[in-house]
Amino acid sequence: TIKLSARVQAVKPSATLAITARAKELKAAGKDVIGLGAGEPDFDTPDHIKQAAIAAINEGFTKYTAVDGTPELKRAVIAKFQRDNGLDYQPDQILVSCGGKQSFYNLAQALLDPGDEVVIPAPYWVSYPDMVLLAGGKPVIVDAGAEQRFKITAEQLRAAMTERTRLVVINSPSNPTGMAYGKAELAALGEVLRDYPNALIATDDMYEHIRWDTATPFANILNACPDLTDRTLVLNGVSKAYSMTGWRIGYAGGPAEVIKAMKKVQSQSTSNPTSISQVAAQAALEGPQDCIGEMLTAFKERHDFVVEALNVIPGVRCLPTDGTFYVFPEVSGLIDRLDGVGNDLELAEYLIEQAGVALVPGSAFGLDGCARISIATSRDNLEQAMQRIAAVAG
Ligand code: PLP
Repeated sequence: TIKLSARVQAVKPSATLAITARAKELKAAGKDVIGLGAGEPDFDTPDHIKQAAIAAINEGFTKYTAVDGTPELKRAVIAKFQRDNGLDYQPDQILVSCGGKQSFYNLAQALLDPGDEVVIPAPYWVSYPDMVLLAGGKPVIVDAGAEQRFKITAEQLRAAMTERTRLVVINSPSNPTGMAYGKAELAALGEVLRDYPNALIATDDMYEHIRWDTATPFANILNACPDLTDRTLVLNGVSKAYSMTGWRIGYAGGPAEVIKAMKKVQSQSTSNPTSISQVAAQAALEGPQDCIGEMLTAFKERHDFVVEALNVIPGVRCLPTDGTFYVFPEVSGLIDRLDGVGNDLELAEYLIEQAGVALVPGSAFGLDGCARISIATSRDNLEQAMQRIAAVAG
């Protein structure tokens, strides 16, 4: 056998991608499986965005660009941060990367030395802990269950902070729970962070636009605590808002020193993000924004349906969410009802084999006894899937 690095052996492949692959495999084998694992909108990329990319190809915009993104896209990102978030950045405070995933990867590589701690609230996006491990850091997981709407409290954050804390991650609205922190909750977290000036903060705003309460403006930690600006990285991207997951464009705004270090990591790994995708992302950020509203309406309708349907299934309890295209029901009662099913992983296997429904077990996100259901699929599929789960629940 070939010896692999300790680094790579310390991480696992993405569980969500594994479930999606398993569902596809079963479908290809002719089995009737409804996939509720998807981490991407089920809508097509809006046409004006595609047309911008096609024009870029035809005009020969197909070569290397600046590592940190084209000046035009960086300008569009700066304008977006100004328009949507009330944040002011200079070009040297912006880095465009190959997806939001690479933004966080660059950050972990730029920041962490062996033993450095990163505070990650659970349930978490599957990739945070593993990217921290790949960088030699130590994930410090802070648990938040349904009773606290899957959000950590200021007291919990304080208890998790140490002299070695280098980074604190906030993802709101959250993948997988769909919950968003309010401004007052962020202010309380910020008050704790003020006592730890050596810790940086990453706010992952990827689902910023997918929120039901459109009357209240989106807020991240910097809106609540502007004094934390010089140590906060704002991470965002076009993947979820504009249904552009395959284009691989994410971006970060933050202190020039950190952005420069992240850019150095990127310059030695991928170089610039795809030139054509950058033109498309610019069109997304600068063009009409009504495509977001159309998706939002569909997601909200499906959310309302699924939450209600889940809550009448014996052994399942589901909180209504604040946004995203996920719901995160507690399924421990259902696990108890099913013979031979002892945990959420076994439940996911049982449902895929016995009910033809693929969902992701909560333990993949750091919380046993729950499951993530993606509503980024048709109403028809959702109705069928709910009937199938209800049928096995008895
Ligand atoms: N952050 C969160 C919370 C996510 O859920 C995702 C995608 O699943 C990402 C970042 C990264 O998205 P991408 O790399 O596709 O831009």
